[in-house]
Amino acid sequence: MSSKAYDLIIIGGGSVGVPTALDAARAGLKVLVVDALPSPGQGENKKAIGGIRATHSDGGKIAVCRASIDIFRTWDETYGTDIHWRANGYSFPAYTLETETSLKTLMNTQKSFGLDIEWLDPADYRKLNPFINMEGLRGSTYSPGDGSASPLLFIESAADEAKKRGTEFLFNEKVTGLTIEAGRITAVESSKGRYSGGQVLNCAGAFGREVARMAGLDTPVTPDAHEGAISEPVARMMGPMVVDLRKRPGSTNFYFYQASGGQVIFCLTPDPPDWGIDTRATSRFLPMIARRMIEVMPALANLKVRRTWRGHYPMTPDGFPIVGQMKELDNFYQAVGLCGQGFMLGPGLARILVRMLTGRLTEEDQMALGHFDPYRSFKEKEKLH
Ligand SMILES: Cc1cc2nc3c(=O)[nH]c(=O)nc-3n(C[C@H](O)[C@H](O)[C@H](O)COP(=O)(O)OP(=O)(O)OC[C@H]3O[C@@H](n4cnc5c(N)ncnc54)[C@H](O)[C@@H]3O)c2cc1C
Repeated sequence: MSSKAYDLIIIGGGSVGVPTALDAARAGLKVLVVDALPSPGQGENKKAIGGIRATHSDGGKIAVCRASIDIFRTWDETYGTDIHWRANGYSFPAYTLETETSLKTLMNTQKSFGLDIEWLDPADYRKLNPFINMEGLRGSTYSPGDGSASPLLFIESAADEAKKRGTEFLFNEKVTGLTIEAGRITAVESSKGRYSGGQVLNCAGAFGREVARMAGLDTPVTPDAHEGAISEPVARMMGPMVVDLRKRPGSTNFYFYQASGGQVIFCLTPDPPDWGIDTRATSRFLPMIARRMIEVMPALANLKVRRTWRGHYPMTPDGFPIVGQMKELDNFYQAVGLCGQGFMLGPGLARILVRMLTGRLTEEDQMALGHFDPYRSFKEKEKLH
């Protein structure tokens, strides 16, 4: 056993684990992060396309992502590192009456939680996305406060800042077990050592269920494969991120935006879902998404794609994260099942987690956590996952 005792051991240095380590170190905790991979963010974090929105269907995610956006937006002035934040906004264009009606109904809930969102008619929307296909377009939502940033630049910077504040990171070290005595975790066992800590936080992403099992718990997180791609850089041609909610053969929604460097980055949700851990890119993805992108923005027809990749959403049965202190073990906490939004939720969630770990939860935190309760029934369904 390492002779050092930590206040907090975080299993997983990804989208959630790293910002939490930073905030915990800022709060004066002695933190250890253990990750199976060689450096920060090498799990699902680097697979994310960088979309950041507070445009969700429930108060919990809206509140957490509004906090995240404040952190991403001010990262450069706070820490002096450019993470390629761009306030391009998000839009959900509607091509059917059904989509228009459901988006407009949802806007009432979103506005009641303070989200800055409006409905644009087709002509106004075209001013933001001049190459949008106008045929059948009924209008679009627009949330100007949303944006994008680079997941890897962010995570590297957050890990550096955490290290400066005393956080220790152990890479290439897989957590293999937990020693439990009298209802508490007394040691975290890895492929290379044993570590003791006051509190243990599971941030293992797509492997969250595997780590929860080490504590004798079954936490319903299932890896759900999604592919993404990036084009060559092109002249600025897009405003906000476009999320098309229509179903097409092989996929439900898909979304794309133009990053600060000019590249168009895109991703879709396979239908049916593609369960399991398999990181091999498929030959289905590109033809399927290319058709969809050209349908929405015909001018993209000659765009050259540089690279595709396949990662995993750590999915839960209802599309909401699983965050909280576990009743079965005194000092065990989980922040897993971040689905398709772990990058955008990470920094805001980190603030709440540290307030939870230090007994300083606010009323708004409790409200958000109510949506992410590990002991909920999982019957409700997220509308904009
Ligand atoms: C194609 C694609 C596009 C996406 N786009 C977006 C987007 O635009 N915006 C957004 O917010 N999200 C997006 N996501 C989702 C996002 O990537 C995930 O929700 C997020 O990264 C999950 O964060 P996490 O911290 O839970 O997991 P991770 O970032 O994967 O971190 C978990 C870490 O735990 C480590 N680990 C696991 N098991 C162990 C163990 N036993 N011992 C030690 N370490 C362990 C892993 O190595 C990993 O580094 C996208 C995902 C995909 C696949």
